[in-house]
Amino acid sequence: MKSVTDILAADRLERDDLLALIGARDEEGRRALYRRADDVRRATHGNVVHLRGIIEFSNYCRCDCLYCGVRASNKRVARYRMSEEEILRAAETIAEAGIKTIVLQSGEDLAYTSEAFGEIIREIKRRHDVAITLSLGERPREDYERWREAGADRYLLKHETANRALYERLHPTQSFDERIDALRLLKEIGFQTGSGNVVGFPDQTDEDIADDLLLCRELDVDMASFSPFLPADDTPLADLPSPPLWKTLNVMAAARLVLPDAHIPATTALSAMDPEGRALGLRAGANVVMPTFTPNEFRFNYLIYNAKPGGSEDPTKKLDDLRALLDRLGLRVGDDYGHSVKTKQTAG
Ligand code: SAH
Repeated sequence: MKSVTDILAADRLERDDLLALIGARDEEGRRALYRRADDVRRATHGNVVHLRGIIEFSNYCRCDCLYCGVRASNKRVARYRMSEEEILRAAETIAEAGIKTIVLQSGEDLAYTSEAFGEIIREIKRRHDVAITLSLGERPREDYERWREAGADRYLLKHETANRALYERLHPTQSFDERIDALRLLKEIGFQTGSGNVVGFPDQTDEDIADDLLLCRELDVDMASFSPFLPADDTPLADLPSPPLWKTLNVMAAARLVLPDAHIPATTALSAMDPEGRALGLRAGANVVMPTFTPNEFRFNYLIYNAKPGGSEDPTKKLDDLRALLDRLGLRVGDDYGHSVKTKQTAG
């Protein structure tokens, strides 16, 4: 088998190369991989990290994903829906913190009609000079079109796993083909589009993960998120372990090599798994952080996975900590929208 160093010398990474990078356990190989990912990140994005302020505005969900804490069959979840006014207030906090992207995320909650949600997008855009990313799952084409029209710039819809059989086992209410069709449709409608996977699903192989990276390359995504599986109480996968930290870092670093332009976050799940997770992610190819601005009264019910306790402090304080961390890493917060490097679209 080729060494990590041999692989890193190649021009284009093939499936076998990715497989070796994802599985690299030895300290030396991993260090070389992360260093290369860090170099590529710097070459494409400079020393800038983009912040995306996220509002998790509803935990109602019609889906029943086996791993997700807010799945429809979880009757223990205290469900909430933020009103337009509550969403606008959270959006204002983000804009006032100087953050240039607002992410609106929720379960698949049809109570927000296409029209009503379009109005929320329009109103945020009218009040603030920000880009908007949506992450509310699969909806009909008309909804995507209306929301794009209303001013939404980006859409996150992870394919979760490229292994069709595994996808369908984990997502009993959804179909793999529909997920991929939705991603293509979002691109066609003009959204900067994000996909990605979860690392550490049961029965997921390194081959599956290599396919995740190749699928992201084929879809030519603008954003890609790779988060470690974290068990969620009251779900069928509640007793399963998380993957080792290095595994997700390897995947992120390999993703940076395959998708040099993409915006790749150091996910909240990575920080939830390890206090050093965020810093390590930012040194293994990530260039985005997504701090939450969901009001505390709702946040603790948006438990898609079991979060570590603590962290109820004020978002502004957490932002100061984040800025200090970036400083230590020789990085700085971007002051523009942080749009896709490919499209260079303008917000507004
Ligand atoms: N309803 C939206 C948003 C889902 S939540 C949608 O379908 O796109 C956002 C992401 O959280 C999901 O894409 C999934 O990858 C991740 N997630 C959910 N449960 C998780 C868990 N237990 N561990 C790690 N990531 C999880």
